[in-house]
Amino acid sequence: MRKTLVVGNWKMNGTRAFAAGLLSELKALSPWAADVAVCVPHPLLADAAQQLQGTVLAWGGQDCSVHAAGAYTGEVSAAMLADWGCRYVIVGHSERRAYHAESDETVARKAQAALAQGLTPIVCVGETLAEREAAQTDAVVTRQLAAVIALLGERIQDVVVAYEPVWAIGTGLTATPAQAQAVHALLRAQLAAATPAAASMRLLYGGSVKPDNAAELFAQADIDGGLIGGAALKAADFDAICRA
Ligand code: PEP
Repeated sequence: MRKTLVVGNWKMNGTRAFAAGLLSELKALSPWAADVAVCVPHPLLADAAQQLQGTVLAWGGQDCSVHAAGAYTGEVSAAMLADWGCRYVIVGHSERRAYHAESDETVARKAQAALAQGLTPIVCVGETLAEREAAQTDAVVTRQLAAVIALLGERIQDVVVAYEPVWAIGTGLTATPAQAQAVHALLRAQLAAATPAAASMRLLYGGSVKPDNAAELFAQADIDGGLIGGAALKAADFDAICRA
């Protein structure tokens, strides 16, 4: 019922030459049974749009402004991303929450700004290690998602949710499939209380997904694919995850 979605998050990596190489390798490895997208740094969007137009690979941004336009130096609007043909934008990644002090409400406003421009926001939620050890995982992810539901209402159905435990991002530690599934089931139940479309929404897992653990994670009942950081920078690894 739900088609697997695999999204690469390049973070602040890659030159134009790197992007040209990786994207052409991925194009040669395509197609996949899953939907696949790459979220590249903003300066690489023009090249991605040119290289990926007409292919099965979609592209997106890694953040957008809550504002539509104006005197917000350094910001990139959802309209600008849409203008470059983006289908997706990641919002609320834990690195933005941690290093740019993004609140739950800011993340919700970014998701709203993205939807207003026809983009699909990939809303990230996830607990830190301290929160997991204090048995606060459920409360944290529920609070983070509740802020988005409160602002979007029924339009929550047009969002992709990514559960990314902060302690698993870029650390080599991965949530066990059972740990990840438990949180995904909780999130889907929360979505079900907000929209009848919850059963068809895609929920991604992110946090050190690799070729050797992707299949088991993606086989879980409520895990519909992955948000991939480090492994998205190597064509062979990303291809293997897209096939998992
Ligand atoms: C991420 O940054 O979204 C991520 C999941 O990173 P990694 O796969 O490297 O843990």
